[in-house]
Parts: sequence; structure tokens; C-alpha cells
Amino acid sequence: MGKVYIVGAGPGDPDLITIKASKCIQNADVIFYDRLVNSELLTLAKKETELVYCGKSPNKHFMKQETIHQLLVKYAEQGKNVVRLKGGDPYVFGRGAEEAIALASNGIEYEVIPGVTAGLAVPLNVDIPVTYRETSRSFAMVTGHSITGEPTEVDWKGLARSVDTLAIYMGMRNLSFIICQLLKAGKKSTTPIAIIQNGTTTHEVVIVGTLATIEKQVVSKHVRNPAIIIIGEVVKIHEQLLQLKAMNRYIESRAIEA
Ligand code: SAH
Repeated sequence: MGKVYIVGAGPGDPDLITIKASKCIQNADVIFYDRLVNSELLTLAKKETELVYCGKSPNKHFMKQETIHQLLVKYAEQGKNVVRLKGGDPYVFGRGAEEAIALASNGIEYEVIPGVTAGLAVPLNVDIPVTYRETSRSFAMVTGHSITGEPTEVDWKGLARSVDTLAIYMGMRNLSFIICQLLKAGKKSTTPIAIIQNGTTTHEVVIVGTLATIEKQVVSKHVRNPAIIIIGEVVKIHEQLLQLKAMNRYIESRAIEA
């Protein structure tokens, strides 16, 4: 019997993978990888490693979750060293636990390797801390999309009232709905919000605004998935650090001139 490693690939920057995860890739006989995995990471694999893409195909269909389960079981039963490589952390909106259940149900040994999740690393990379003394004592990772596609399954009212910083994954399609729910629940329209597309990669795009302005900014800057939405006072730290760094550059340039 082989073994299946359910592995987190990190948020985009290939250097943000863990050492344990990269060792798994190097030792794999077969790798089942998702759309958001940086393809550079696949170059760590041996030449003979079989690479199986599980993301959206040209006909726009994802490989069915059941098909993935069946394939993981099949390859492990053949004695293969199997890696299931997922963006970010495999257990944060990654369906990794569903795969673990499928493997355990079939008596297959597995191990889960954590990854750096987008909701933490993507804001961090643009100087937005998810917690901050005084302004953010709580933080929630929320899905903006659910299995049925119905955005109503999240308790937006409860989140708006009790959590200081929200990191919303997969929220772009429902952005208007989410903002509307938060405003209804009493969030001020001046609440800061940042949206970061392709965070930690060379294609990173950041927009910063308020609940009142952000939708227009999304349209004018063409911001799309994959993007993380960060809502809360912590977003102001991004601007504060931008200003401080600009000031430092100015002082430095004056010093050089002098
Ligand atoms: N397991 C992953 C999340 C998978 S859900 C993790 O732990 O990060 C996919 C969603 O994650 C995307 O729709 C987007 O909201 C977010 N995401 C993943 N990578 C991202 C990136 N590089 N930049 C911005 N958002 C990202």
C-alpha cells in the first residue's frame, strides 16, 4: 500500500512552501495538483513523476471531487507515493478533510502537511496585519461562496457585530451582496476594505477603499479572482506604512542630492 500526502502549497509565491511540503513533492510518484498551485513548484518533482491537473479543464469543468477521491485511492492501492497538492493550506476552504475522510474510509494511510493560507499571507504581503493591538482583537476567515453558491449561508450579521477583521475567500462574485449585508448589520460605509488579487505573486494587484467606494474601484481596476477581501481598521496600516516608506525614500533622495 502507498500513502497519500495532502499538502499545502502556500499562497502563490513558490518560496512560501514549507520544507516538509517540498520534500513530499520531491519524493512523489504522482502529484494531483490544483489550479491555484504555482506551477514552479512542480519543477521540484522527479522527471518521472506523473502530474495530474485537477483544476478547471478547457471545457470549464473541474475534475469531480469523487473522481479525485477514487484516483487517490487507486494510486495508493498500487503502492504509489501520492501527493495531493493544494493552494494555501489544505484544510482552509480546500476540501482537504473530505479527501482525508475518503482515504480513511478506504483504509488508506494519509498525512496532511499544513500550508501558509492566503487569508494570512496575502494581506501580510501588503502590510496589512490581521490583528493589531487596540484595533483588531479578533479575526475570521470566511467563505464568500458556498457549495450551493448561495451567499446567505454565512452569518454576516454575527460577523459584522463580533469580529474586528474579516478575510473573505472566494468573495468576488458576491461582493455587492456581502457589502450590503455588512452595511445592513451596522458596519459603517467608511469601514476600510482592501482587495488583493494574485497576492504574493509578481501579478499582485491591491486596491484599498471603503465599503462605499470599493465596488467602483473593482470595476475600474478589473480586479478578479483569485482575490482576498480584507475588511477592518487594520487596512489603514497598509496606507500608514506606504506613507512612511515614501517619506523615507524622500529623505534618502534629499540626502543623496545634498
Ligand atoms: N486553501 C486555500 C484557499 C482555497 S479557496 C488557502 O488556504 O489559501 C480559493 C480562494 O483563496 C480564492 O478564491 C481566493 O479568495 C483565495 N486565494 C488563494 N490564493 C490567493 C492569492 N494568491 N491571492 C489572493 N487570494 C488568493
